[in-house]
Amino acid sequence: MPYDLQPVASHFVNGRYVEDISGASMPVIYPATGEIIAQVHEATPAIIEDALTSARAAQKAWAAMSGTERGRILRRAADMIRERNRDLSILESHDTGKPLSETLYVDATSGADALEYFGGLAGALTGEHIPLGEDWVYTRREPLGLCVGIGAWNYPTQIACWKGAPALACGNAMVFKPSETTPLCALKVAEILHEAGLPAGLYNVIQGGGAVGGALVGDARVDKVSLTGSVPTGRKVYAAAAEGIKHVTMELGGKSPLVIFEDADLDNAVGGAILGNFYSSGQVCSNGTRVFVHRTIKEAFLERLSARLAQAVIGDPLDEATNFGPMVSERQMQIVQGYIETGQAEGARLVTGGARLDRPGFYLEPTVFADVSDGMAIAREEIFGPVMAVLDFEDEDEVIARANATEFGLSAGVFTRDLARAHRVIGQLEAGSCFINSYNDAPVEAPFGGAKMSGVGRENSKAAIEHYSQLKSVYVRMGNVEAPF
Ligand code: NAD
Repeated sequence: MPYDLQPVASHFVNGRYVEDISGASMPVIYPATGEIIAQVHEATPAIIEDALTSARAAQKAWAAMSGTERGRILRRAADMIRERNRDLSILESHDTGKPLSETLYVDATSGADALEYFGGLAGALTGEHIPLGEDWVYTRREPLGLCVGIGAWNYPTQIACWKGAPALACGNAMVFKPSETTPLCALKVAEILHEAGLPAGLYNVIQGGGAVGGALVGDARVDKVSLTGSVPTGRKVYAAAAEGIKHVTMELGGKSPLVIFEDADLDNAVGGAILGNFYSSGQVCSNGTRVFVHRTIKEAFLERLSARLAQAVIGDPLDEATNFGPMVSERQMQIVQGYIETGQAEGARLVTGGARLDRPGFYLEPTVFADVSDGMAIAREEIFGPVMAVLDFEDEDEVIARANATEFGLSAGVFTRDLARAHRVIGQLEAGSCFINSYNDAPVEAPFGGAKMSGVGRENSKAAIEHYSQLKSVYVRMGNVEAPF
């Protein structure tokens, strides 16, 4: 029985759903039709206060539990998410418009992976013993305290779990604010965590836009802020967090290069470019949207790419045959349409796509521009939609320099059969999450995050533990204290 689209209440605070209808109304719009499918209310100051107070109150007892006990709850939640994957995926498809053929495989399931992985690590979080002759130092790995998570709209379930799982595993409490565009999925994550045995107050979800996010970031009781969002928002949130010397993780935007050498397996390279530009209708932060193709294979690449794009099944996200859905919102679609017009005005060659589909909802065709030059806006700015820019190159040093000539540094990919070249090139690309003969894989075991303006810190993997805990070092003297007087 799929979930009701209208949530029980707007917020999940202190272990239960809560409502305060005096908060501004936030309609939830189904991107495939443009219809309002649910209504939630923005968190009022009273809701924000309850969320922060209950998180603060619950955190110490949670941190005092053994890691194995904490982990057991997270792993139970992971199992429950997997059992309910279909219902959660249907909800995710309504929240975001992404087709069920994607959400069934990458959203709730990757959230469950994070809960299982960090649940497993929780019991293994230890300090170390440092011998110093007779004396010694030991370190304790301690939680940061109260963490705030702020999400983007493209992966609402995944982001809620990728932030919540390591935070809880390390003994922290979290207040999570989903994007105002996709408020539904994180509530289910909170509900399931508590059903799995998470004590009340440890994972709260409250709704709202930038003002609610700002109130959380600015609160003196908050120890850490983890944001997934755009660079302009990251700049504001990072600055606000710095006021209170708070820890941060910043998962921000990108304009990542995908370099395809002349010896690449062309079908695989085309497949990588499709995954790196059109999955989730192009609304993926790590997308390889600057596709540098060696001059000698460019036309063959474009031909095969166009043939494969013609096979895209664009339509109802709930039909499992559909593999390309709408943009998340009217606003996002208009932003992307603006870039398509700019690309044409700048003189790029429109190879395929470019139009809005004549149907309800926010559907844009998968779009490819060729003959793009480095200075064009479509090659420099994050579009966050289904628009690929193909640029030609001649040699390795040139393409490395051009690939790095950007303020962003989230991801990078290389397709070549020459593995020595693959490692040499990847070693020089300024990016945090890289791929050789593949694109956009994000297993929980691998660190994920950006270099340069694309971010600070890493999510997933053991590296995330560093960002949700701190070390206390304890010097232990075994003999007498020698003081100067
Ligand atoms: P956005 O920056 O507009 O909003 C992100 C979140 O920040 C939202 O929840 C929003 O309400 C909140 N926010 C806005 N202003 C705030 C403020 N002053 N204080 C606190 N919170 C505030 O981003 P978006 O449009 O939701 O998402 C798209 C962007 O996210 C793209 O740039 C994309 O690349 C990026 N993204 C990055 C990753 C990653 O892991 N690196 C993943 C997904 C999306």
